[in-house]
Amino acid sequence: MSSKKRLVGVVPLGEVPEIALKVIAAHISGYLNLSVQILPPLEHPEYALDEKRFQYNAGIILKAFESKRFKDYDKVIGVLNLDLFIPIFTHVFGEAKQGGKFALVSLFRLRKNPDGSPSPSSLTYERAAKVALHELGHLFNLLHCREKNCLMHFSGGIQDLDETPIYLCRYCSTFLKDRLFRQSDNEESLKKLDKIPLNLLSSKERFRQ
Ligand SMILES: [Zn+2]
Ligand SMILES: [Zn+2]
Repeated sequence: MSSKKRLVGVVPLGEVPEIALKVIAAHISGYLNLSVQILPPLEHPEYALDEKRFQYNAGIILKAFESKRFKDYDKVIGVLNLDLFIPIFTHVFGEAKQGGKFALVSLFRLRKNPDGSPSPSSLTYERAAKVALHELGHLFNLLHCREKNCLMHFSGGIQDLDETPIYLCRYCSTFLKDRLFRQSDNEESLKKLDKIPLNLLSSKERFRQ
């Protein structure tokens, strides 16, 4: 069994304040005890602009990540300052493929309070860290949680996000620890572990506290 920590890459797409990247990286290493590296910026994702919506398609950006070389990293979080959407929502704060390698976090909608007034940068970056940890949860196969007092609770708006705590409920926390500590050098045994929690637990069991 390897004791090597999993390595997470945080990569800006286009122009992103360095402090935002540092706050996100610090939260990932502080809360999840993972190794984190901030990577050189990737190009502005012009290819994902939807000209009718004037927004950027998160799915297209995540797809483009798959062709990039991030082989030294277990998970990679792209951070951008652009308005993201997926077709079923007007906007998203972040996006991740469940159990995948890549996630996105957008600062764009995190700069305003629920009443429309501008937020202090410190609050914007704390929200970004929250979104990053939530999306990383999806990458480690956590689903949305019904418990409102859990980081994996779905946030549709900024008020929801502000009311969502930065910590996981007991169930999600146990699940994530299990995922992180049962890592193995053997890809096959890791694949088997991947399947156990999702297939065997009914939704009732999943949310039991
Ligand atoms: Zn989510
Ligand atoms: Zn939870």
